[in-house]
Amino acid sequence: MKPRTKFQHKVVEASKSLPELSPAQIRWACTHVIERIGRRTSKGEITCLDCGEVFHNTTSRKRCTCPHCGAKLRIEQTRKLRFEQHDYAAFITACDGLQVIRIFMVDYYAKIGSSPRYYMTEVMQRWIAPDGRFCTLARLRVWGTMYYDSWIYSSDLELRNEAWAYGQIYTDDIYPHIRLIPELKQHGCRKVLRGVNTTDYFIALLVDNRAETLAKIGQEELLRLYLQRDGRNFERYWPSIRIAARNAYTVKDASLWCDYLDMLRELGKDLHSPKYVCPDNLREEHDRYMVKRNRLRAERRKAEQEAFILKCEEAYQQAKARFFGLAFHDGKIRIHVLESVREFFAEGEAMHHCVYWNGYYRKDDSLILSATIDGKRIETVEVSLSQLAVVQSRGVCNKNTSYHARIIDLVNRNMSLIQQRIAA
Ligand SMILES: [Zn+2]
Repeated sequence: MKPRTKFQHKVVEASKSLPELSPAQIRWACTHVIERIGRRTSKGEITCLDCGEVFHNTTSRKRCTCPHCGAKLRIEQTRKLRFEQHDYAAFITACDGLQVIRIFMVDYYAKIGSSPRYYMTEVMQRWIAPDGRFCTLARLRVWGTMYYDSWIYSSDLELRNEAWAYGQIYTDDIYPHIRLIPELKQHGCRKVLRGVNTTDYFIALLVDNRAETLAKIGQEELLRLYLQRDGRNFERYWPSIRIAARNAYTVKDASLWCDYLDMLRELGKDLHSPKYVCPDNLREEHDRYMVKRNRLRAERRKAEQEAFILKCEEAYQQAKARFFGLAFHDGKIRIHVLESVREFFAEGEAMHHCVYWNGYYRKDDSLILSATIDGKRIETVEVSLSQLAVVQSRGVCNKNTSYHARIIDLVNRNMSLIQQRIAA
């Protein structure tokens, strides 16, 4: 893509003046980005892929240091002879008043019996202006490969417009010496933020007041959460964030703290009070208020349930009042008609079945009776009023009891009492 805007022209020109990597930068990439390998045979002989020396080591740990060259090795027990790794390394610098993030691909090939080879290819540069505008210079790459990002090294590092796609590429392997434009420093940037795309981070600091404020007040974890855009609306935490800043309170676990504030809000606590906003032991307070919040929710649910039952009560009374008072027994088992929705609720809770939750009190054709012995619920019976027949009779958790047949028989023998009430 040819540069069109003034900014793009400036970037393309400035790009030509970027220096080659220094030997120190290359050394860092080869030792920090690439994990060097010690290949272990089943006999415990480790070959350092870096210096080629062999030493004995049977530790169960995954890593060791080569006694010959001092390389930190990852031990791989394998018969493999060839190894390769490909990973990104980032270098952050400033050029011509613009912030630059340079991304290199480090390719590593090692083989038992020869020296390892490292190749570094610059694959992408992201350029950011002090006003937050940015553009991307990159080589072409084959999209959608599963193995690792395969770049076409022979293509030119030039202006590309797939800004979104290139934005997906970033690494936390960033060379520790960074150079920042003065505007970024003025906006609170001191260092890079691990776990966050550096381009997004820089742009946010330049154009987003909230990000800038969080950086300046040193709330690094909140800033990280804010930039990760986890769907939280930071607006509602902002007053508390101000209180925290005023009290020199640093949030160490941002998502836990935000959860905690949400619970305080639900419980009607003062989110401007340092007493609540700045707890000494966040986890303890979080857990304590979670218990309170859950209790509040349970109470609310119960109140809603009560209101709902009350609302349904009148309709049930109207529909089934003619059957109220109907009861019969065989000397042991007593069977009576449920006379209120509240009674349905109690029956369902006690019997762990769905006579209440499935709204049997609303079913025109159903008459629900409870079979008890000495006041203890045994089974719940449904009679079809149009058929004058038992549809079902269920014990605790819908299981039949040893009284099942006897209960059905007792209902059937007294079906005429139900019939009389229908006729009345
Ligand atoms: Zn070595």
